[in-house]
Amino acid sequence: KNEPVGGRRFESTAAASDASAPPAEKFEYQAEVSRLMDLIVNSLYSNKDVFLRELISNASDALDKLRFLSVTDTQLLKDGVDLDIRIQADKDNGIITITDSGIGMTRQELVDCLGTIAQSGTAKFLKALKESKDAGADSNLIGQFGVGFYSAFLVSERVEVSTKSPKSDKQYVWEGEANSSSYTIREETDPAKLIPRGTRLTLYLKHDDKGYAHPERIQKLVKNYSLFVSFPIYTWQEKG
Ligand code: ADP
Ligand code: MG
Repeated sequence: KNEPVGGRRFESTAAASDASAPPAEKFEYQAEVSRLMDLIVNSLYSNKDVFLRELISNASDALDKLRFLSVTDTQLLKDGVDLDIRIQADKDNGIITITDSGIGMTRQELVDCLGTIAQSGTAKFLKALKESKDAGADSNLIGQFGVGFYSAFLVSERVEVSTKSPKSDKQYVWEGEANSSSYTIREETDPAKLIPRGTRLTLYLKHDDKGYAHPERIQKLVKNYSLFVSFPIYTWQEKG
């Protein structure tokens, strides 16, 4: 069994809904991650729109990685699943779902990528921040480096990342809440949520940010970023 690299595992909790499901495991964020999350929320509260750009760019990176690997491993695309990004807005419930059919993450990659900053561009950001003497430079630096995945918490009170890597036969769910120092990982057991490969992010929007879950608003934001994305981005409204 894999031990988390960056976070310390300190507790196992039974999955709340399904007694037969393997328990969800609880992890603590690496200290730098907590610091970064505070920084993001405090520096960018007036520029929350960036969350969508960051999440679309991650989806696009994941699709690029899959496409690149499929050149030498042709099995990867045998499932016939298109390389695309799907954004679903459920305005009645204030939920946005962003699904890509990219490379996905294994359980260990979830811990390494979404619990530590060792692997990501955000490490460079924090380094630059440390070197900068001007406290007001925070938001400039954020613009320069991109703040990445954690920007999801600018608008979300809870984020679920359900992901399936071609390297693993299981799909895992990472779950985190705003203003929390820990996150959980469990196996995806809901058959309705299984995906052939890739990643589905579910954003449970904060009360004041539920307005983002409108297809028109999403489409407007997507239009600004999609120029730089070489995969189709579909948006639609969830039927209630
Ligand atoms: P960066 O994109 O600069 O590396 P992020 O915070 O945006 O930093 O993302 C951290 C890491 O999490 C990524 O490098 C990637 O390994 C992983 N990741 C995030 N989103 C996805 C996704 N949709 N599919 C696969 N991996 C992802
Ligand atoms: Mg990123």
